[in-house]
Amino acid sequence: MKNGVVIIGTGQGGFQLAASLRQEGFEDPITLIGDEPGLPYQRPPLSKAYLKDARPETIQLRPESFFERNGIRLVAPERAIGIDRADKVVETLTGGFIGYDHLVLATGARNATPPIPGIEAENVFSLRTATDADRLRDALTRCRKVIVIGGGFIGLEFAAVAVSAGHRVTVVETATRLMARAISPAMSEHFRQLHEELGTTLILGTGVTGMLQDNGCVRGVRLADGNILEGDMVLLAAGVRPNTELAEAAGLAVANGIVVDALLGTSDPHISALGDCAAFPDPASGDPIRLESVQAATDHARAIARRLTGKAAHYDAVPWFWSDQAHWKLQIAGFARDTDAEHAIEREDGRKLVFRFKMGQLLAVETINAAGEHMAARKLLRRPAGVTRKELADRDFDISSLAKTLKELS
Ligand code: FAD
Repeated sequence: MKNGVVIIGTGQGGFQLAASLRQEGFEDPITLIGDEPGLPYQRPPLSKAYLKDARPETIQLRPESFFERNGIRLVAPERAIGIDRADKVVETLTGGFIGYDHLVLATGARNATPPIPGIEAENVFSLRTATDADRLRDALTRCRKVIVIGGGFIGLEFAAVAVSAGHRVTVVETATRLMARAISPAMSEHFRQLHEELGTTLILGTGVTGMLQDNGCVRGVRLADGNILEGDMVLLAAGVRPNTELAEAAGLAVANGIVVDALLGTSDPHISALGDCAAFPDPASGDPIRLESVQAATDHARAIARRLTGKAAHYDAVPWFWSDQAHWKLQIAGFARDTDAEHAIEREDGRKLVFRFKMGQLLAVETINAAGEHMAARKLLRRPAGVTRKELADRDFDISSLAKTLKELS
């Protein structure tokens, strides 16, 4: 009997793979193993709308009937604890053994825990799962002074929600600018202004060195510069680590993620990996990268589904990402690594754009509240010949008109 495809991880990528396999006509069994309770759900709303309205049905990716109708076996909550590659079997925590013809690791990432003394105190939270979001929402009803450790996307999205609900919010970030790992200095500066206008206090260029506690409950943090910050709850939003332990124990290559090739296959031809846990070759440079985004997880899943049903399957999508902070939608098209120049534009109606270049070639476009330009950037970045700074400058950086002209010419 065929064992079909077994997917470990019922997050965004694991779910998409199961759905895409059926769309591509895959007829063998599909088993999804996930250690979170309930149906697969999407994480982006957890730091946005779901924090406010708490309606689980709004984050579910599909109702239960979808899994029944499509013959997708959901084994959850259940944790995979081992992979026997010789016999092609996954072992689970409750003592089950699930055989596979092809195994896909979609284990995602978990929040990093910085080595801060006292971090285990009560009222110190993190945000990765729906359960985390429920606990945070509950804490917000009791606490007034909120400290966020980390000025990245999740910390800032949460800060925007909390400050808008009337909390006193302080974000502490070790880097000297916001979202420094992912966006340009010009865009960081726009967001610094936005968050300060909302009423959030930003402390940049300083880390947290300890938690102040009363009977095990946090009452503030100590900063590296010696200052004390009072607060009655803390959100840790200091980045994530890929869940690679299963792969490592099974002898697969791991280096900041499970190493996969351009087809998203691991060194074992019967095992693939996708999403937050996978380090894949950047289609532009060939260097290994790991992206933590819905787009990467879902596009990886679609590429694997095509390969497993015998179709062309190289992964070469243009990366894109979004983050909603208060009334600003940040969208990023492309992957900006080692850029050497940027060009920032502010339109009269409030739309903002930053073009990022390396040696005169466009690598990425960041936009605020400019969906049309974002879509145009995604189209342009797919162009095999690329786009030069000169081409954009000749159009006065009107990216939509350039995308339209190039389409007409092609
Ligand atoms: P996940 O969705 O993390 O799924 C992995 C699953 O595998 C988890 O359920 C995990 O518990 C399970 N698992 C791990 N190990 C095992 C095991 N051994 N056995 C069984 N199950 C296991 N991205 C955007 O593009 N835009 C956004 O605005 C955005 N906002 C976000 C907000 C929040 C609060 C968070 C947490 C993430 C956000 N992201 C956003 C990132 C995006 O959600 C992730 O990139 C995406 O979920 C990755 O999908 P994945 O399938 O790789 O991993």
